[in-house]
Amino acid sequence: MSDDFDEPPDDGTSGRMAEAFTYNGGRVDPGESANIRYGISETYLGDPVRIPVTVINGEHPGPTVFLSAAAHGDELNGIEVVREVAHDWDHSDLHGTLICLPVMNVHGFLAQERYLPIYDRDLNRSFPGREGSTSARRMAHQIFTNFIEPCDLGIDFHTSTRGRTNMLHVRANMENPKTARVAKAFSSNVIIAGEGPSGTLRREATVADIPTITVEMGEAHRFQRNLIDRALTGVASVLAEFGLHPESSVHWPGWRTIIDDDNEKTWIRADAGGIVDMKRGRSELVKEDEVICAITNPFKEEEDIVTVEAPFTGLIVGVLENPVVYPGNPLCHLVGLSPDTLTALERERTADHSQSGLQTGDRPPR
Ligand SMILES: [Zn+2]
Repeated sequence: MSDDFDEPPDDGTSGRMAEAFTYNGGRVDPGESANIRYGISETYLGDPVRIPVTVINGEHPGPTVFLSAAAHGDELNGIEVVREVAHDWDHSDLHGTLICLPVMNVHGFLAQERYLPIYDRDLNRSFPGREGSTSARRMAHQIFTNFIEPCDLGIDFHTSTRGRTNMLHVRANMENPKTARVAKAFSSNVIIAGEGPSGTLRREATVADIPTITVEMGEAHRFQRNLIDRALTGVASVLAEFGLHPESSVHWPGWRTIIDDDNEKTWIRADAGGIVDMKRGRSELVKEDEVICAITNPFKEEEDIVTVEAPFTGLIVGVLENPVVYPGNPLCHLVGLSPDTLTALERERTADHSQSGLQTGDRPPR
């Protein structure tokens, strides 16, 4: 409990007091913050494997929110989002508590690889974890019980898998009203509905009644400033929606589409092996039958070129970056849009084009 009994209640949480945040072996009192290196495993040398955690406990009561990144060790954009929220933002009027976990998969981060190098385990299929189980599940258990379970909601940041990129979008279980509220508050243009695979942080946290969304943004091994800025806008909007920053307002992205089972959507896959001449980019709109890419052989022989066209009009959510494919490899993730969304998007793109001369969508909102 804090000792500021004299302070008059100043908001809708009158009567409630801010509480200390406690984890195994530590506590952070209201009005305080702490940078923690928390041991979740040990190396072959017996040294601790420690994740960085920043806990910011506001003076005022409110929800506890986690922001996590690098469950896949080479997915870096989210690390910078979490660090900027934790260390560059002013939280002097914070109503609630922020748990910032910029690097969850320490082994993968050190190796700049997606998986835990130990038998290539996927930390993001190991939640909520279990004591006495595999090394991946033990690490997940340490993270989950200490820093996820005490939370009221959360945001887990990812990028596309190495060699591909995706436009900033949210993935969330939209059938859960609490999770849908977090997802909409993040103010992305695109939300892909679904509960997510078993063992993912967002699914298992949501099952544990901690509504959690995934934010997908860009490519691995990069800091992409325009995407980081858009994600920061999303975090600010979520913190406003849930009253952590009561002076801030919720952001509206201009247009929004929720992609569910009723939407046309497909991963377009290569039917030929070769070198890919990609004509379209992340977050571009393509019309039905327009060429997305051409697959060529080393000699660029005309008769061998395979062109790939859009099967329907839609938005490119994810696309190949590393320009080589085997037959069956994914080229592009295309999602169809409702006529209303299409109109709103085309209007936005036309406005952007006349203002800036640029055509791509992934820029921070003005
Ligand atoms: Zn990931």
